[in-house]
Amino acid sequence: RAPRIAICGRPNVGKSTLFNRLAGKRIALVADEPGVTRDRKEAWGELYGRRVQLVDTAGLEEAPPDSLPGRMRASTGTAVDQADLVLFVIDSRAGLLPEDRHFAAWLRRANKPVIVVANKSEGRGGGSAALEAYALGLGEPVAISAEHNEGVSDLIDQILDAL
Ligand code: GDP
Ligand code: MG
Repeated sequence: RAPRIAICGRPNVGKSTLFNRLAGKRIALVADEPGVTRDRKEAWGELYGRRVQLVDTAGLEEAPPDSLPGRMRASTGTAVDQADLVLFVIDSRAGLLPEDRHFAAWLRRANKPVIVVANKSEGRGGGSAALEAYALGLGEPVAISAEHNEGVSDLIDQILDAL
């Protein structure tokens, strides 16, 4: 089967923009799962000819307002469990927020291959957000701009290496 790639992170970091970018013109919505993860979207994508299944999570927005770790587990847990690779997206402009750190701590325990994606990095040469993100202990962040299509081919290279 095609490897599954889950795109995770707190609201507004650019997950859906990255999802659409990676799915590109080949986007084909195959499922809108009902229930807890109402907004979860899946698409087939082809990354340099390799067929993958992309999962865009919207879990943090959708989750019931109980404890933060509980919310994260409930909302993105299934997507992460089923994923072969997790793209953990952060917002370089906003920097790391407590939600990012909680999610990172949870991801470290989940024992899945993770690529930290420092989105909204257009026009920057790394910067403090990337350093901060490195300290999450999930490997070297890949700086991209999903909106401006910068760094995306590097990201695809890293994804293919990780699969
Ligand atoms: P999600 O909630 O994580 O799915 O985030 P969205 O993909 O909906 O994007 C949230 C906002 O960030 C939107 O206004 C996007 O246009 C914007 N955005 C996404 N990617 C980038 C980027 O690379 N640079 C900048 N400056 N804005 C971006
Ligand atoms: Mg979204």
